[in-house]
Amino acid sequence: MDSGPTFRQTLSTNLLTLTRFRDLLKLVEQNRPSDDLDLLRRAYDFSAHHHLRQVRMSGEPFLSHPLEVAYQLAEMKLDVICIATGLLHDILEDTEVTSEDLGGQFGAEILHLVEGLTKISRLDFSTSEAHQAENLRKMLLAMVDDIRVILVKLADRLHNMRTLHHLPAERQQAIARETMDIYAPLAHRLGMSKIRGELEDLAFSYLEPDACREIKQVLETKRRDSEAFLHEVASTIGAKMKEHDIDAAVESRLKRIYSVYQKLRRQRITLDQVYDLLAVRILTNSVKDCYGALGVIHNVWRPVPGRIKDFIAMPRPNLYQSLHTSVITHTGQSFEVQIRTHEMHRVAELGIAAHWKYKEGQSVGAVSGPADGKVAEAGKAPAPRPRETKPGTEDQRIAWLRQVVEWARETEDPGEFLSSLKIDLYPEEVYTFTPLGKVIILPREATAVDFAYAIHTEVGHACMGAKVNGRIVPLRYKLRNGDIVEILTRQGHTPSRDWLTFVKTSKARNKVRHWLNVAQRERAIEIGKRLVEKEARKYEVNLKKVTEETYLKVSQEYGCHKADDLLAGIGFGKFSARQVLIKLAPEPLKEQAAAEEPGKFAAIKKALGISRDGGAAIVVRGAGDLMVYRAKCCNPIRGEEIIGYITRGKGIAVHSRLCPNVANLLYERERQIEVEWARATQDSYAVKLVIQADDRPGMMRDLTSAISADDTDIRDIEAHPNEQDHTATMDLTIEITDTKHLERIVGAIRKVSGVHEVKRILKV
Ligand code: MN
Repeated sequence: MDSGPTFRQTLSTNLLTLTRFRDLLKLVEQNRPSDDLDLLRRAYDFSAHHHLRQVRMSGEPFLSHPLEVAYQLAEMKLDVICIATGLLHDILEDTEVTSEDLGGQFGAEILHLVEGLTKISRLDFSTSEAHQAENLRKMLLAMVDDIRVILVKLADRLHNMRTLHHLPAERQQAIARETMDIYAPLAHRLGMSKIRGELEDLAFSYLEPDACREIKQVLETKRRDSEAFLHEVASTIGAKMKEHDIDAAVESRLKRIYSVYQKLRRQRITLDQVYDLLAVRILTNSVKDCYGALGVIHNVWRPVPGRIKDFIAMPRPNLYQSLHTSVITHTGQSFEVQIRTHEMHRVAELGIAAHWKYKEGQSVGAVSGPADGKVAEAGKAPAPRPRETKPGTEDQRIAWLRQVVEWARETEDPGEFLSSLKIDLYPEEVYTFTPLGKVIILPREATAVDFAYAIHTEVGHACMGAKVNGRIVPLRYKLRNGDIVEILTRQGHTPSRDWLTFVKTSKARNKVRHWLNVAQRERAIEIGKRLVEKEARKYEVNLKKVTEETYLKVSQEYGCHKADDLLAGIGFGKFSARQVLIKLAPEPLKEQAAAEEPGKFAAIKKALGISRDGGAAIVVRGAGDLMVYRAKCCNPIRGEEIIGYITRGKGIAVHSRLCPNVANLLYERERQIEVEWARATQDSYAVKLVIQADDRPGMMRDLTSAISADDTDIRDIEAHPNEQDHTATMDLTIEITDTKHLERIVGAIRKVSGVHEVKRILKV
């Protein structure tokens, strides 16, 4: 039975969340008066409707979660698209709503953002190995093409951390760990120190509860003890600033728990030695006033040497700007002073999120770029082309992001600018997962086979299929960011040559090549053995009686170190099985066989056109001097795509890829071998052409002169007139060095007037 909420529950839910939603609307109206509140109302209704029966672990209605996430985003003054995304962020993951529904209701932009969040939520970082945190963060950034997805995700995580105590202990640990390793550093990288600070302190309280409690106590004591002191400092500063005509706001704060802990651990000091435990912040209206205030402070208190830092002149890579100094009072009490403008402060707290502003060019706080008077030039603002930018180091990437933000400041509508901006921080990499959560970083366009080899060579070799996100995909499937890849292997399964046509990593390529070479050799040995056995049966030689010494001796005669090398040579067609057998066999047989051998073999050789000189034009990849000949059926010429085929004892036949026989040869794939043309030589090949042309006087003369104009030898030419239509068919055999030469000649023949068609005949 359906155990949905009772009427009373629904009613109280509605009241609680409705009140909160009204607060949200008020906040947005205040911050962004021209934004579309109706969109938020629709998003709220939609979310309320679809999450209606869902309850959080805390017992609260689920709706309270997206609502708090949206509220957080509104506090960051983000646009309504962002806030609506916050309201809808779990809708695809946790309800029946489909992408089509959502897109139909709220349009492509919100759909895209929610889909981005859904993609991320399906990753479970908590099973990942800790040392991979940096890769995971990169992956997260690589997975989204709109930075707003990350902003919503951070707000989502913040609310989950705030309500973490409702979860079972094990989940608490996993989520706190993930927050500490991935989300807090991500917030830091984007300059969002406020959210980062809260995430860190919350995670710390779950991960190191004892240390946390201890520091909390000390800080609390410190706060009580220094309350009066800080008050005095603040009023001194206030008075001094007024004296020097600097308009400044002063606030004081205690260092955050986790950052105290880090400092203690990193510097191996005691709490008393932490200079910046207490800090006073001075916010001014201009950069000039910042430096002015610094001078005033140093006049009042003595600065601690080496503790003055100018992050205004030298901003941190994450956009942070401020002046820092530590001073000591005459009673020996030390504290830190941070001085910055209001706008710098906003950026320090919100980071990249600080750059969403009102529409219509109004700016919040004192923005350095002129907000008006630049309208005419706005259209000329440099358009960033992030996809073409390939920043190198991590710092450069963030610097690039910073640059983008600078551009945004100069454009008329920064909010729109950033929202339309597609980010692609890692254009050359793709981040994928093993089912156990290990990140595998591959080049873009890498395939399932690359993934398999990245895991282990044996996994690559035995790889026969792959599942991506639980679905079977072809091996050539190009992996995408966030794909969870499971490689299906079968013992005894072996690599295939056509993997070489799609693998992207050199590791996969080399391993496949190596395997094919080794396998080819093994097959050649097997074939060699069979061929010798066949001959042995024919000549009634008992191979079992041939000793190992004899094998070795004969092998050495052929320049081989081992019997296997000799057999491989036979398999590859380098040596004749019969001749080898004669050498292996006892004396009387040798004479008998030798008597009938030479003539026979010479005849075969002639018939096949085997010649070592001719063969030198072609080399077998990965093998030395093998007997190679051009197949008669297709007569390949230099430059053409070719394929080798191991014949039984007659060497390697080289066919054109276009040869109709090649298709048949594929039935015995293990006999295929890679061959390629050797470096250019002056060898030429006979090529037969058939020409259809008008049977006109002078045709033969024009043809021959066109051909010999290219310094080409004509071996044979013959014309067959065709009485009915006054045309003639001409058979022509010429000497051609390579495909380019052939193309040239065919071109020249086609230009002769009256020529209708020129065709190459493969068989000579
Ligand atoms: Mn959520």
